[in-house]
Formats: sequence, C-alpha cells, structure tokens
Amino acid sequence: MEKVSILESLQRVIAETVSLDADQPPFDRSMRDGFAVRAEDVQSAPELLRCVGEVRAGETTAATLKCGEALQIMTGAPVPQGANAVVMVEHTERQPEAMVRVLRPVKVGENVAPRGSERKAGETLLSPGRRISVFEASVLATAGKAEVLVYRRPVIGILATGDELVGVEESPRAGQIRNSNSFSLYAQVLRSGAVPSLLETAKDNLADLRRQIELGLETDVLLVSGGVSMGKYDLVEPVFEKLGIAVHFESVSMRPGKPTVFASWKDRWVFGLPGNPLSTFVAFELFVRPLLRALQGLPASSLPVVKGVLQADVVERSGRSAFLPARVSSGAGELEIWPVNWKGSADVFSAVESNGLLIVPSEAARLNRGESAQALLFDELQYASEARF
Ligand code: AMP
Ligand code: MG
Repeated sequence: MEKVSILESLQRVIAETVSLDADQPPFDRSMRDGFAVRAEDVQSAPELLRCVGEVRAGETTAATLKCGEALQIMTGAPVPQGANAVVMVEHTERQPEAMVRVLRPVKVGENVAPRGSERKAGETLLSPGRRISVFEASVLATAGKAEVLVYRRPVIGILATGDELVGVEESPRAGQIRNSNSFSLYAQVLRSGAVPSLLETAKDNLADLRRQIELGLETDVLLVSGGVSMGKYDLVEPVFEKLGIAVHFESVSMRPGKPTVFASWKDRWVFGLPGNPLSTFVAFELFVRPLLRALQGLPASSLPVVKGVLQADVVERSGRSAFLPARVSSGAGELEIWPVNWKGSADVFSAVESNGLLIVPSEAARLNRGESAQALLFDELQYASEARF
C-alpha cells in the first residue's frame, strides 16, 4: 500500500476507511439565490418584508432575522439565525426603501439544506476495495483527504515467445509474423489497473526461454504467450518445470484458450497463455483479470454478464464452453448480441468489432437466432445507432 494525492489516486483502489471530519453541509446552507425569511411571516402571499442586509457564499452574518424581516442570500451561503426558509429570487420583487415583496407562500425548510443533512461527522464514506473514480474523488476532496492510502499496483511481465515473431517496425520475411500479443496484453493489463512491463521476445529454445522467464519472475505476475500447446517447440512448460514453477492447471475446457496454463513460483503467479491472439485475449479476461483485481484489493470478480437476444444462429461443435467475440448493443428495450463473423482465433480484424464474448455453454451444440443468450462484457455497451457495420 502507499499514500498518494487525490489526483494520483484516480483509478487506484482505496485501502483505508475514509470518514467525514465535519457535518455535511457544515452549516444550514441556502440552495438558492433569494431571500432568507421566517416561513411564519409568509404563510400567504404576496407579503411585504424589510430587507435587512445580505449574506454571500463564503461569509457569515451576525444578524438574527426578526419578525417581518428578510435577508438577501446567495446559493451556498449560511442561512442566518432566525430564518428557517429561503424564497427564490424569482419569486420576489424588490420594492423601494429596502422592501421586498414575496410572491408565493413559503414553507419551513424550503430551499435550505440543514447542517448534517447529507452526512454527519464521523460517518464512513468509502471503504477499502473500491476503485477511485469521479464521485470518489469529490468525496475525498469534500472530506479533506488530501492523501489517501491505496493498494500498490501489481507489475505484470509480458513475454511473447516464438521463432516466427518479429517486431512491429519490421517487415516479416517468409514464415514470419509480427508480434501482436504483447500489445493486446499490454492494453489488457492497463485496463485492469495494473502496470505492464514488456520483456524481450523469447525464441523457441530452452536457453532463451529460461533466461527470459527468469527475468519475468521479478514481476508480480508473469504472462507468457505462446509455446504452451502440443507442438514440438512448445517448450514453455518444460522450462517452468526446470525453474521449479509449479503448474496448477494446464488445460481448460473452453474455446478459444484451451491450453491455458496457470502456475506459481514463491509468491509470484505465472500464466502460460495460448499463442493465438484471440485465445490469449479470452484466457486473460477469464483467468488473469480476476487475479489482477484481487492483487489490487478488488473483488476477484469476472467480467459482467449481460443477457440479450441473439441476432444470428451459432453452431458450436467443440463440446467445450465457448466464448465467442460478439457485439452487444442496446436494442429496443432488450440488449442485442451480434456474434462477430470471425475466422478463427488469430482473427483480430473481426474481433476489433466486439465488445463482449457470447457464452455458448458446453452442453449447447447450437444457439438459435432470437433466443435469449448471455455474454461477458469487456468493453462499453454500444448503442444501436453507433453500429459500426
Ligand atoms: P503457439 O501457441 O506458440 O503454437 O502459437 C499459436 C499461434 O499463435 C501461432 O500461429 C503463432 O504464430 C501465433 N502467435 C504466437 N505468439 C504470437 C504473438 N505474440 N503475436 C501474434 N501471434 C502469435
Ligand atoms: Mg509458438
């Protein structure tokens, strides 16, 4: 945990209980520009009162309002002694010789926020485990918490592996492709609130993998992409074994993402993520994200699940639970789930249109258009009018 300023705390997770140092509002506060009055003086309208002064926001007044008197008051100013209501300036008329005509009857308490009516001094406002966003920032500021205790952000190592991978600035030669997983994983780590740390791509040989994985073990969580399926040069797991990294599971009955490996070493966590870009993506959202949340003091919850009407037939022959890229948009009252027409787990070009993953349960061989279905949302909901295709 560490102490940071409110501005530095944005998007971080609070690690302390924040309570209020004073009643809120701290005084009976006028909610309008107008006149502080005694409601009993304005039971009927119109009524003529004598204006005996004014009070501005940020000021107080020693005046005590007496029978037949009014005091001009601004929004946010303390209501003076003796007054028990504020009449809006729109419902008054200035008259000669410091008189004011009130045009409507006034009720006790009208347009006054009494001291402590929002929260009382000592009340708990924020508890540990909450991500600091817009209103958390205003609550912290209102409570005078210039410095706030937040959880440390875990550092996440990202290691791409594969002899075929070249850098983004390079032109791939025959048989080569550009490394994209490092970029998508980096973005996913950032979105999870953790700190990404890129390692140099490892070749598919024991020495290179070992060196890079050892380097990666300096981070809190190491994400290795590629090299975990059944190929002759998928050497990540043998290297885990040599380094004493304990594997907890190495296969998940899902599609895409079956060869997902979860392991640990001392107090570090290690994932072997399947190399295909979509498989890596799904494995991250389902397994890495909850861990990164837990490490930041958040509930280790999975992505939010939404229910919607499926907009196309989906056939799923794998027999595994499938998580297929889909676009979830708000339709006429109900959410619509549009499966994205993807061409396999390397197809990031179709996935770029998705904001969710359609869930096809393992026991369902097909889902029909018009049926109710579920999706995991990993990005903002789209509005039908924003449809991009
Ligand atoms: P692997 O699990 O290493 O057999 O990789 C599976 C597939 O994913 C292969 O087609 C790889 O070329 C591809 N792949 C592996 N790593 C990456 C990466 N970092 N970026 C893009 N594609 C990758
Ligand atoms: Mg590979």
